[in-house]
Formats: sequence, structure tokens, C-alpha cells
Amino acid sequence: MHTQRLQPRDTAEAAEILRRGGLLGIPTETVYGLGANALDGTAVKRIFEAKGRPQDNPLIIHVTGAQWLPRYCADVPPLAYVLARKFWPGPLTMILKRRPIIPDETTAGLDTVAVRCPNHPVTLAIIREAGIPIAAPSANLSGRPSCTTAQDVLEDMDGKIDGIVDGGPCAVGVESTIVDLTVMPPRLLRPGGVTLEQLRDALGEVAV
Ligand code: AMP
Ligand code: MG
Repeated sequence: MHTQRLQPRDTAEAAEILRRGGLLGIPTETVYGLGANALDGTAVKRIFEAKGRPQDNPLIIHVTGAQWLPRYCADVPPLAYVLARKFWPGPLTMILKRRPIIPDETTAGLDTVAVRCPNHPVTLAIIREAGIPIAAPSANLSGRPSCTTAQDVLEDMDGKIDGIVDGGPCAVGVESTIVDLTVMPPRLLRPGGVTLEQLRDALGEVAV
């Protein structure tokens, strides 16, 4: 497979790769992601194959804002909108109940789904243009360090993915914080770019 090199202005080509079920390396503020249409189980399966990632490790879906939550999540609690207003776009991932439109491949069969809005103008423009949520783990081969430049991604993925968008080096190196909003009180599942203290300021009680 030839891996297309794309520039930030090539949002139409990038969105087209995603819409037709391809794999696309995308810049985010944390690390480069390996993205596919989160609604297309066959496309998502290819992410696991390209990375060598175990199928039982669920993916985070990337959206452009809280207005997308009710499309993909059921029973969205008011707290989700509180967190989105405070921390999106940014390194906060929320676990919510999924709607059936999200396939098992994306959630590893769980009845919940992880959702985040990345703080990167290029990737936000691509998601908006594609009009679909993007499932994306880090763009490295499983077991290798995460990639913070497009060149790093090519070292692991050249010939295995349809395209890579060069958005320059990633600003942060920290993963997103993951908080589960399907339980009360909300529970911190993974520490990251947003601190426990910031979450408690916004939510009150947070379990760890
Ligand atoms: P990564 O893409 O490698 O940063 O990993 C995403 C991580 O998000 C997974 O390894 C899980 O720990 C977590 N995750 C994704 N979806 C869910 C979910 N539905 N419930 C709980 N944790 C999740
Ligand atoms: Mg990773």
C-alpha cells in the first residue's frame, strides 16, 4: 500500500480516506493518532491489525464537541456537558453509555464508549469535514514509543496505512485523562493532562 503524505490544507483528501474506510495518521495535541471511521467496524479492525494491538483494548472516539455526544452516547448526564465546557477541546476522555451505532470493534464489546475532543485545529477540521467520529489509538506499533512527529509515524506505519497528515510536532507528550461518568460518583480511570484536582473542582466528588 502507498502511504499518502498530506499537508494540513489537504483536509478534503484526509476526510475522504476516512469516509471510505481507510487508515489515517492524524496529529493531536498529545501524540499522533492512527484514525479510522469509528462507525465502521471493518475499518476499525484494520487499526488493530496495523498496530498489532490486542482486540480487547477499546479505542477512544474523537469528536468536534459536546454537540456530538447524543448521537453516539445514550443517557448523557449533565456532568458530561459541564466537563466538555471546561476541558474540551483538550486532554480529557469521558466514558459514557454507547448507542448501538458504535460497533463492537470500537468498544471491544463494552456497552460504554470513550469520547474525547482533541485540541488540534487540523484534526478538528478533518473530523468536521468527514462528518464522522474518528476512533484513534496512538499511531505507533504496539509496544513501541508513541509518535510525536509525522516522520516517527512513517517509521512504524509506512506502507501499512492510507495516509499521514503532517501537522508538525505534538505540543504535549501526556495522554488524556480518562473519567468514567457511568458511575456515581464519577471515577478517574487514568491520570493524564487534566489533573484530579481540576476534575474535583468541576465535579465535586471523584473516586479513584
Ligand atoms: P489508548 O488509545 O492506547 O490511549 O487507550 C485507550 C484506553 O482508553 C484503553 O486502553 C482503555 O483503558 C480506555 N478505554 C477506552 N474505552 C473504554 C471504555 N469503554 N471503558 C473503559 N475504558 C476505556
Ligand atoms: Mg498507545
